[in-house]
Amino acid sequence: MPVTISDSILHSVIKPARYTGGEWNSLVKDWEKCSLRMALIYPDLYEIGMSNLALPILYDVLNRQPDVLAERAYPPWIDLEAQMRKAGIPLFSLESKHPLAEFDIIGFSLGYELTYTNVLNILNLARIPVLAAERTKQHPLIIAGGGCAVNPEPMADFVDLFVIGEGEEVIVELIEIFRKWNKEEGDKGELLRQLATIPGIYIPSLYQVDYHDDGSVASITPKGPAAPSIKRRFVAQAPPPVIAPVVPYLEVIHDRGVIEIQRGCTRGCRFCQAGMIYRPLRQRSQQEIVQAVGQLLENCGYSEVSLVSLTTNDYPDIDRLVDTLIKHYRDYPLTISLPSLRLDGFSVKLMDSFSSPKKARLTFAPEAGSERLRRVINKGAREDEFLETLATALDKGWESFKLYFMIGLPTETMDDIQSITDLVAKIRRLGKGRRPKLKISLSTFIPKPHTPFQWVAQDTEEQLSLKHQMLKQGLHQIGVHLSWQDPKVSLLEAVLSRGDRRLSKVIYGAWQLGSSFDAWSERFNYQNWLQAFAEVGLDPSFYAHRQRSLAELLPWSHIDIGVSPEFLKREYQLTWEGKETPDCRQGQCNACGLESFCQKNNYTKAVAR
Ligand code: SF4
Repeated sequence: MPVTISDSILHSVIKPARYTGGEWNSLVKDWEKCSLRMALIYPDLYEIGMSNLALPILYDVLNRQPDVLAERAYPPWIDLEAQMRKAGIPLFSLESKHPLAEFDIIGFSLGYELTYTNVLNILNLARIPVLAAERTKQHPLIIAGGGCAVNPEPMADFVDLFVIGEGEEVIVELIEIFRKWNKEEGDKGELLRQLATIPGIYIPSLYQVDYHDDGSVASITPKGPAAPSIKRRFVAQAPPPVIAPVVPYLEVIHDRGVIEIQRGCTRGCRFCQAGMIYRPLRQRSQQEIVQAVGQLLENCGYSEVSLVSLTTNDYPDIDRLVDTLIKHYRDYPLTISLPSLRLDGFSVKLMDSFSSPKKARLTFAPEAGSERLRRVINKGAREDEFLETLATALDKGWESFKLYFMIGLPTETMDDIQSITDLVAKIRRLGKGRRPKLKISLSTFIPKPHTPFQWVAQDTEEQLSLKHQMLKQGLHQIGVHLSWQDPKVSLLEAVLSRGDRRLSKVIYGAWQLGSSFDAWSERFNYQNWLQAFAEVGLDPSFYAHRQRSLAELLPWSHIDIGVSPEFLKREYQLTWEGKETPDCRQGQCNACGLESFCQKNNYTKAVAR
């Protein structure tokens, strides 16, 4: 039965439009006529979740099936949560307002580790047991995917199955088996064993994990039909873009139309998990993009469209594409945004070709201050080219820049930190009397699974604080704004991204102590987490600050993302030698593990510019 939420409750919370649904392009199918009902959830606020790129694709794929209904849900902010708990209202979907417990399947997109406690809170608010072991076939099947699922272990106790990789094809195979499974007569174990036969599906309860006395993983043993390793799924060709996404009524993080112009990246930055786990590179044709932008404008009423990918200027003839779009849709009018541009002269020329005379801020990510460290991380941006690019941008009228740097990178010294201050001083001098405004954003390096840096230790809080202090002093200037990530948040992110399945108990403990919305500074409670670790007898430092040997069995060793451990080890060794690996688009394959796909698709040639 649909849930009713009174006006008096909605009027008492901030941004009630987060919870009312009814947005343009949202689909309300006939509940009774659909035999399979699935709720799609991003476990953060509506404004964040509505900017997620994966869920609209799955919403589209699922709702195209006549007998399947897919609806959305997001966790309520603490004001509404308190009211819902007080009034006994279970969490519901935005479209039909049915309680989540009435759906057959609930799918979470896990994009950030600090949303994990929200998953537990959502299940609890939906009156669904939080622990997978306590759920029966009467409860919805809880599935999860997204970038964090490449190390699913910390969430192993809560999720029935994970989809590893891209979901467009797997979700159809999954619902096919679900449809045939007889809920009345079959049991949940039988369903899970059948689902385990789908490539890319990982069912944690079908694996036994044992540990050495020192706490490292000793073995990961599959049970029954489970495969020894789970291969990441990816589609050979990017599927048609979503051209009628749900249009929110309130301002969300990315408040514009979005067309994914390519998937994957071959640059090979060694710290970048996305660059490893979304390979290989697959590009949409210009014709398909131009047509999709038109449909998006028609269907959604947007005036701004973002052409997204991991490195937008790697898309072949991006300048021609932008030019075509502007000419083709000059009557709308259309504003184009290009996130993820590299720091080079081409990007500035490109931005200048369609920016208004009043220039907004330009954003670049040099990541490291010194050329030596940029070589170590395989970022490959030369300082003279970088300064020349910014000088050109200043000449063309830009006066404000945002620069992203990462602190705590492998081999980093205090000289590398000083070089950030030196670089900023050089940029400021480029203004020739006019001082460019600079926003410097410092993130903390997180050694992520499935990257060449997965074995390295993260800086301790003390090391990070020293570096922050040095930059705070060095960059204390008018016109320079410095911000950085709380080291405690970075520590937790490192722990949750590299942890094993014993961390489920820590996540559970932190949630029971009241943690949720950990990604929100006003809600982040470090003491809860320390207490949860202490109660379980685990040390966060073991996960964050410990250098692993290359021989160690990592908690995610049974997840095969396609990029091979041999390639990652080779890249790791090159790190210490300060050697770069060229982008395979330049013609030479680096044998990252995806050769069978690339050779079959004549890929190296196809992607070379
Ligand atoms: S297999 Fe070779 S060409 Fe293909 S993505 Fe990997 S390095 Fe590039």
